[in-house]
Amino acid sequence: MMHYILALDQGTTSSRAILFDANGAMADSAQQEYAQHFPQPGWVEHNGRDIWASQLEVAKTLIQRCPSPSSIAAIAITNQRETTLLWDRKTGQPLGPAIVWQDRRTADQCATMRAQGLTELIQTKTGLVLDAYFSGTKLAWLLDNIDGARSRAERGELAFGTVDSWLVWNLTAGASHITDVSNASRTLLFNLHTLEWDDELLTLFNIPRAVLPTIVPSAGQLAQSSPSVLGHAIPITAMIGDQQAATFGQGCFKPGMAKNTYGTGCFMLLNTGSEPVASRHHLLSTVGWQRASSPSGGLHTTYCLEASVFMGGATVQWLRDGLNIIQTAAEVEALALSVPDVGDTYLVPAFTGLGAPHWDGHARGTLIGMTRGTTKAHIARAALEAIALQVADVFEAMQKDAGLNLSELRVDGGASKNNLLLQMQANILGVPVIRPKIVETTALGAAYLGGLAAGLWSSTDAISALWQEDQRFEPQWSDTESAVKRARWRQAIERAKSWSQD
Ligand code: ADP
Repeated sequence: MMHYILALDQGTTSSRAILFDANGAMADSAQQEYAQHFPQPGWVEHNGRDIWASQLEVAKTLIQRCPSPSSIAAIAITNQRETTLLWDRKTGQPLGPAIVWQDRRTADQCATMRAQGLTELIQTKTGLVLDAYFSGTKLAWLLDNIDGARSRAERGELAFGTVDSWLVWNLTAGASHITDVSNASRTLLFNLHTLEWDDELLTLFNIPRAVLPTIVPSAGQLAQSSPSVLGHAIPITAMIGDQQAATFGQGCFKPGMAKNTYGTGCFMLLNTGSEPVASRHHLLSTVGWQRASSPSGGLHTTYCLEASVFMGGATVQWLRDGLNIIQTAAEVEALALSVPDVGDTYLVPAFTGLGAPHWDGHARGTLIGMTRGTTKAHIARAALEAIALQVADVFEAMQKDAGLNLSELRVDGGASKNNLLLQMQANILGVPVIRPKIVETTALGAAYLGGLAAGLWSSTDAISALWQEDQRFEPQWSDTESAVKRARWRQAIERAKSWSQD
């Protein structure tokens, strides 16, 4: 009998379920969008009930459509990270909204804490930057702004969780309150070195220990779904944050292997092995995953360096919606190909400032180098090059931080369909860029982890053998050509820096 892994991929705008077979192929999938709430500028909320209802529905759909539900060996969970929920342990009902990772409501609190000189302590302990993006200050906000929440939390009546915890709590009908190390490592409350909640951090962020979930590995016999919820008791054998899952799904099992996801923004993660690397270039150091390499073996933790580029595919959205020079994102490729090069035109898409490795919140978008001969095709081409150049900056920072030379880059995400973009990327990096057959790497990575723990696959080598390349882009530029391009880009970046006065 064929065995399956049911991957639950709880994303920022939709909940998805994908059934993977023992060959790592997609057998079935279902997806449901749910509501986004923007109650004030800078605030982004979900309703915890919507997250659960949409995820439950797609999971049930696949179980019902599966000819033999008993062939589902395990459930593997991957999720939007950092999004913060608080709920009542007795009723299981959320208190207040789920505060989404994009939400900036605690930016001032973070600025105050930075002004108190806490940046370095927090970076050393957590591998993160002290920013509103992470869960710590979001949880404190819920405790301080919901009537009675703080005292109830101190009495042990409330539970905090990121989305992985929330899903497992509901899948187990309240029996398990757990989170995996990869999700815990995004809270600012977790010590990257001891792999535990950290008392000093809990005090700094004013979080009572009684609300916290138990930390578990990313893979193993973590919990079991309640028959009252899914109709079946199915082991839950993986929990992992979405970007870490994608890294696993790209088969980046060895130190020095990296993936980049070209979505709205770009997310690059590099496997740095069994020790966290302290970044000197404002990158994040995070847990990749923790698992036992054999059922009886000890646990092994893999760490990653992580960096994001704010404007990835969103640069193409701007061409479409801001400039109206294309009707669909896919049209950008043909338009850019209609000219042989950018004609020395550079677009720095610093619309919301620049992230790693520049970190300039006051940088703004710049289009420079235009002449009377410049057309929309040049601008489209410059936009794609800008995505590749930003990724190259992050790639270089990672290599420096890790002291490694990367020999290839594996890619996925919506904009990785664009062959011209990937060819540009290979040319600029000087290493091959590889797109896999299955670009649903997030769900796939969770399924791989869960399937390993459930015994569907024997080792990561068995998975590497399943992992299939769709297309490989070899660098076609000389070192000089890419050096000139990058030097020009650096000049353009300098022009974009410190522009805004607010
Ligand atoms: P997310 O998961 O962040 O919502 P996706 O992985 O779905 O993003 O990718 C969507 C992004 O990819 C959009 O910003 C879109 O502009 C961009 N995109 C989609 N197709 C192409 C294409 N062919 N060329 C360049 N960009 C594209």
